Amino acid sequence: MDKVTKLPIIAIDGPAGSGKSTVAKLVAKRLNVHYIDTGAMYRAVTLMAIKEKVDTKSETELIALAQRCSIEFKYEEKSLRVFVNGQEVTEEIRLPEVSKLSSDIADSIGVRKHLVALQQKMGETGGVILDGRDIGSLVFPEAEFKFYLDASVEERAKRRFKELKAKGLEQSFEEVKKDIAARDKRDKERPYGALKLVPDATKLDTSDLSIDEVVNILASRIHSKEDIG
Ligand code: C5P
Repeated sequence: MDKVTKLPIIAIDGPAGSGKSTVAKLVAKRLNVHYIDTGAMYRAVTLMAIKEKVDTKSETELIALAQRCSIEFKYEEKSLRVFVNGQEVTEEIRLPEVSKLSSDIADSIGVRKHLVALQQKMGETGGVILDGRDIGSLVFPEAEFKFYLDASVEERAKRRFKELKAKGLEQSFEEVKKDIAARDKRDKERPYGALKLVPDATKLDTSDLSIDEVVNILASRIHSKEDIG
């Protein structure tokens, strides 16, 4: 039987705080493939919109902004550093105001089309894991492996709250939970590139699983399927 020669594309979708990024990073390391954090790309454009005081209601301005943002990832042993037009934004793009506004910016069809095309270019050779909302449905519908990670709003808010606290950022638990619920609604209801569970994705509820457990499940699924090929 012919062996598949192209390296696989692994899609991980799911709502905010479902553990996608942490898990994707670790699976990428274990399988020695590249990791593309597509949320970081929407966050990078959002941060620049704030900095440049772009009128976020104007589709034309948003598209022009996305086009002048050159987004780069630098891979390091323990972290993924993000740069926009040569400036490091790794920490800044995680600020709560960026998180909040990023779902609005991600509603822009023009911004989405631009970023989706970039993501397709970055992943075209395979050997990549991409995490986001629309990877299995829109960016790479032909991906060899698709996962959908989910967890209760309560659990996801707990995780985010802990992360923010560790960074010294002030936000009450209730506020974090409200923000997550609002982002979920927005991410699931946008007309183009909405977060959805596609039929060929494996869904995993991570509420009661440790990061290691989720990583093991994903890695073993990928290994077992690859062996069949
Ligand atoms: O995953 P993360 O929380 O970093 O994503 C930030 C925002 O970018 C999300 O709230 C979502 O609205 C948007 N996003 C998206 N499509 C993706 C990745 C992220 O719309 N593929």
